[in-house]
Amino acid sequence: MSANDNPIRQVCVYCASSRECDEVYFAAAEALGRELARKGIDIIYGGGAGGLMGRLADAALSEGGRIIGILPRFMDELEWGHQKLTELVLVNDMHERKRAMLERADAVVALPGGCGTLEELFEAITWKRLGLYFGPIVLVNVQGFFDPCIELLERCVAEKFMDGRHRSMWKVVESPHQVIEAVCNAPPWTEDCRSFAVPGL
Ligand code: AMP
Repeated sequence: MSANDNPIRQVCVYCASSRECDEVYFAAAEALGRELARKGIDIIYGGGAGGLMGRLADAALSEGGRIIGILPRFMDELEWGHQKLTELVLVNDMHERKRAMLERADAVVALPGGCGTLEELFEAITWKRLGLYFGPIVLVNVQGFFDPCIELLERCVAEKFMDGRHRSMWKVVESPHQVIEAVCNAPPWTEDCRSFAVPGL
């Protein structure tokens, strides 16, 4: 598919700030950054210079890609921001950042990370469930990292905290090379989702 046929123009990537995790995760961030950049897809991310975020940004920039960082002012003051981004958007707080990231995104991708990544991922899933966000959500399950998270979501469905139809909100892939295909083939999600947002309502 050429970049022109691709309706996905901007992908939001959630990933770790850690500088100490296993190299396999850094390699996944780098591969994803390169892949999206080569397809001419803009990346929106948290704006960090280090960790998986930094590797994602550096890889995208080295391929001539566009990468937009959305950074709270206090992180900018701490000099946590990447200095060479295509665009840096400074926001007042973490809530504003998450909204800004999601509002600009045609799709969301989560790489492994800590509580920040998980919080962002779960907010995207929650917004989609409530019909506030409609795009694809892809989890890149490097080394089975997301297995416990997927198990918990399955339990939410099994115990009727969520509806079985909510399973189609997210797609799990094993490698960053499968992300673009997963994004392009995600099942449609419409405002009808509000009719089954709450089990039993
Ligand atoms: P974590 O997975 O807990 O390391 O948090 C990473 C996620 O939270 C990223 O997707 C960012 O949006 C945000 N975040 C946390 N720490 C930083 C940081 N030092 N610089 C920029 N963004 C951060």
